[in-house]
Amino acid sequence: MRDYEKMYNVLKAEYETYQMFCERHIQELNEKNIKLEKKIDSLYNIIEISKYINTFFTNDNLISLINDMIIGILGVTYSTIFLIQNNELIIKATNIEGMHIDLISTEMVYINKEQEFIINSKDPLKQIGEEKTDIHSIMGVPIKLRDKFIGYILVEQNIYNFMTVELKVFLKTIANQIAISIENSFLYRELEKITQVDSLLGIYNRKYFFEFLEKKLCKENKFSIVMIDIDDFKKVNDTYGHQFGDKILINTANVVSNWLDKDDIIARYGGEELIVYLSDFSDEYSVYDKVEVIRRSVEQSKVSLNGQEKSVTASFGISFFPLDGSNINDLIKIADDLLYKSKKSGKNKVLSTHMLK
Ligand code: GH3
Ligand code: MG
Ligand code: MG
Repeated sequence: MRDYEKMYNVLKAEYETYQMFCERHIQELNEKNIKLEKKIDSLYNIIEISKYINTFFTNDNLISLINDMIIGILGVTYSTIFLIQNNELIIKATNIEGMHIDLISTEMVYINKEQEFIINSKDPLKQIGEEKTDIHSIMGVPIKLRDKFIGYILVEQNIYNFMTVELKVFLKTIANQIAISIENSFLYRELEKITQVDSLLGIYNRKYFFEFLEKKLCKENKFSIVMIDIDDFKKVNDTYGHQFGDKILINTANVVSNWLDKDDIIARYGGEELIVYLSDFSDEYSVYDKVEVIRRSVEQSKVSLNGQEKSVTASFGISFFPLDGSNINDLIKIADDLLYKSKKSGKNKVLSTHMLK
């Protein structure tokens, strides 16, 4: 009987040790599980942010949207995104009232050094906003594109010890995403420009002009169209060479552009023909006067190449919306017919529909 009791006690002790071991193991597994869940959560958030950025990368408000996401996902009280523009670090998005941000010296030091940092302090580091929220925890990470400093993210919290290394890793991922999205959006705009602009003259192409005009037909009450064709340009090419011809063509586009107002646009219609959209005007006479000034300006402008100097003239035809037509083809046809008439009646002339009435 005593032997059984001994054996029982030995077994019981073994069982208890084993039970303790298992419980400790379960606890460790639970902790690991929680950590893994957190990691999955942040991975999920990172994927969501990437998706979001890729969907909205052409949106002008993208940086504000990302700033809102940082606040939502990290749970910080304040978030501010700075970006370099014209060599200056400027605030692009923040939820601090009035966009008024007082940086403390530590923040300035790290931003100037383009370095990441975390500060946690029991004493308030600063106060923000009208309610003077005490800030106990601040974290910052630079935004870099292939080692080039292009901006900075600063997040602030009123809870002490809120900022952690894990949160910093997360914020750095967002900083990378911002860098990529800025580059994408820059490339997108470059690509957009290539499809809209004539490479020789640096003005819009015909395709863009038509799209632009289509929109204006729905929006504007009145505008005018001017067709321009350089006079005897074949002769210029034949006498001075194609390269000189190109230079004259570029110069003519520049001379016309210099007289345009901010809402006017000029495009290459084809060859050495240009087309201009003139925005709002008081009457047809004022448009005619403006185009007459442009004509004289073209006539007076000289281009020189390899010691030779040359000036050209151009002929112009003007039509008015809505007076002369309600669609693009009618308006262009009328301006083109008048241009043809200018050519037939001696060139270097401006003709407009209001003169025929
Ligand atoms: P008109 O006064 O009747 O307009 O006579 P024109 O000689 O100018 O005749 P037209 O407008 O029909 O001819 C246009 C010429 O412009 C033909 C072409 O060789 C030349 N041209 C078109 N595009 C370019 C260009 O990009 N560069 C150069 N150098 N010449 C061009
Ligand atoms: Mg011509
Ligand atoms: Mg022509």
